[in-house]
Amino acid sequence: MTDAVDLVIIGAGPSGYVAAIRARQLGLKTVIVDKRTSLGGTCLNVGCIPSKALLQSSHLYHQAVHKFQDHGIQVTPKFDLSHMLKHKDKIVSDLAKGIDFLMKKNKVRRVMGSATITAVGKVGITDGKNKGEIIATKNILIATGSESTPLLGLVVDEKNIVTSTGALEFPAVPKKLLVIGAGVIGLELGSVWARLGAEVTVVEFLDHITPGMDMEISKQFKKILEKQGLKFTMGTKVTSAKVKKIGVEVTMELASGGDVRCQTVDKVLLCIGRSPYTDGLGLEGVGVQTNQRSMIEVDGRYQTSVPGIYAIGDCIPGPMLAHKAEDEGTACVEMLTGHSRHINYNAIPEVIYTDPEVANVGATEEQLKEQGRKYRVGKFPFSANSRARAVGAGDGFVKILADDETDQILGGHIIGSDAGTLIHEISLLMEFTASSEDLARCTHAHPTLNEAVKEAALAASGLGTMHI
Ligand code: FAD
Ligand code: NAD
Repeated sequence: MTDAVDLVIIGAGPSGYVAAIRARQLGLKTVIVDKRTSLGGTCLNVGCIPSKALLQSSHLYHQAVHKFQDHGIQVTPKFDLSHMLKHKDKIVSDLAKGIDFLMKKNKVRRVMGSATITAVGKVGITDGKNKGEIIATKNILIATGSESTPLLGLVVDEKNIVTSTGALEFPAVPKKLLVIGAGVIGLELGSVWARLGAEVTVVEFLDHITPGMDMEISKQFKKILEKQGLKFTMGTKVTSAKVKKIGVEVTMELASGGDVRCQTVDKVLLCIGRSPYTDGLGLEGVGVQTNQRSMIEVDGRYQTSVPGIYAIGDCIPGPMLAHKAEDEGTACVEMLTGHSRHINYNAIPEVIYTDPEVANVGATEEQLKEQGRKYRVGKFPFSANSRARAVGAGDGFVKILADDETDQILGGHIIGSDAGTLIHEISLLMEFTASSEDLARCTHAHPTLNEAVKEAALAASGLGTMHI
């Protein structure tokens, strides 16, 4: 065993590799361990990036089939799925090389293999290139992420019954795809395959899609997706799925029980949420406490119940988002080295990259009602925004919620083209506790989609919109 390093980070996803870079910038001797041969974690290898690459390829094809003619462009589009998949893989491998370069540039030691915490201050490598090594360290940072939540009655084979990982790799477009769960993954990947010609049915346990989202947006979102051809079976749970000679036989029943039905499809995508991934880490052995959902409990400095062991990202409570994970990575290491740091969890935007995009930050109307808070609502439809009309993106609206007394912005909800970019105008202002009038008084360029955000702010602040 060599001399103790300052920090061993387990997991090289967005939380881990960003923490490693910051740790080196702050002078810590740092080691990063990952069982994958490619850096970047779930997000880069089988999550955010490959899904967005496929969303873009399928979007362009869909535009060529359905939208080009509106502009007088006549084409007969065809697509080559294997090319699309290779294109996606190349984006991933190029970006992974970029992270590898960053590790080398910042002199982070990279260790390949599965890590186990054998004792406080000791990390053992149980397989892979560095198998057998025990690393002595002053601090351990767990950044092991999450995995797809399993469902009783289904055995995932990543061919016919798949998680998001398999759904990023289908070698041919399935004729019938059944998606279990109308959450972010189901709607993004459901959209990809529907655009490429699959008949997509989404089975959802609840009576609405995207739970936790502002209900007005959720309802509008469902209508738009239905117009695009996605079918929804609501208030229903899948009880089993079995691979047969031809297709997969899926059995489902009402969420409340009864009314059993069977359906045969080509592929099943299971996406009912993700669970923290802590298998083989040795948490119990060292006494790291987890909550009822197996998430690692941490304090305000991301320290677990064991001094010297920290945790960040998907394996701790909070939204499972790459940007939340990254910020926790830098915040944890900064506090570890004596700096002060704070993350405003109320101002973390969430984006669904469908067409239109859906984005939100802060409180929903339902949450404000539950809190008994008095608030004002400002809304503006993209159908009344000149740029949206010019680019054929008139679907959707912006909604801003502001405190009735102070006018402070409490939440922003957008469904529309580029919602994922527009939302940052609101989240940035929320970070500075701005009012809806502050936002409304900022000069916005014309013609831009951002003007719809300004108009919603004008409405929320009571100044009155200029365009309706
Ligand atoms: P991860 O990225 O999961 O990384 C953890 C790493 O730890 C993995 O590489 C794993 O191999 C390694 N590891 C685990 N255990 C061990 C061990 N014992 N030893 C060694 N290594 C270990 N979020 C967004 O914000 N935007 C998106 O658009 C988005 N799209 C997504 C699409 C899909 C299909 C999926 C599945 C997720 C998506 N997410 C998205 C969520 C995002 O991927 C996660 O929030 C993010 O990856 C969490 O980062 P992390 O560092 O906590 O963990
Ligand atoms: P999710 O939590 O977004 O949605 C899961 C859905 O499945 C919910 O609507 C839930 O009601 C439903 N459900 C649960 N059990 C069910 C059952 N037995 N039958 C039918 N429906 C059931 O989970 P996800 O889509 O798997 O995504 C996991 C995580 O990955 C999310 O937390 C998300 O933050 C992250 N992610 C983010 C992005 C993004 O930021 N664009 C993209 C993909 C994934």
